[in-house]
Amino acid sequence: MTQSDCLFCKIVEGSIPSNKVYEDEQLLAFHDISPAAPVHVLIIPKKHIDSMNEVTEEDLSLIADIHRAAIKLAAELGVADSGYRLINNCGPDSGQAVQHIHYHLLAGTKLGALTG
Ligand code: 5GP
Ligand code: ZN
Repeated sequence: MTQSDCLFCKIVEGSIPSNKVYEDEQLLAFHDISPAAPVHVLIIPKKHIDSMNEVTEEDLSLIADIHRAAIKLAAELGVADSGYRLINNCGPDSGQAVQHIHYHLLAGTKLGALTG
């Protein structure tokens, strides 16, 4: 379930602290340590999955749950109407730095256009 050399698994286990904003049986959400916007939350499954490429049919409900959590968090953080962005980086060209699937919830300012 968890991977001993994985930063986000350590955050799930609590051996590395995080500033949590949401937690349930399957998911954890916490503030990014190096925020790229006034609101920058990471939403992760507690189950270790390397990246989007390793998501299986049976994991798809987790991905739906992450979207559900993002909608709830956006409302709680007061950015549902002003707008937000939910981003997953997958693989080297995306800049994925942590090999435990995660979604960035970014908001609180006018976000720049997405570029290649
Ligand atoms: P990626 O580039 O893999 O999509 O995003 C990884 C994110 O994890 C980055 O935005 C980075 O700031 C964040 N991050 C890296 N290490 C830590 C940490 O120890 N704690 C928290 N809260 N965020 C982290
Ligand atoms: Zn992990």
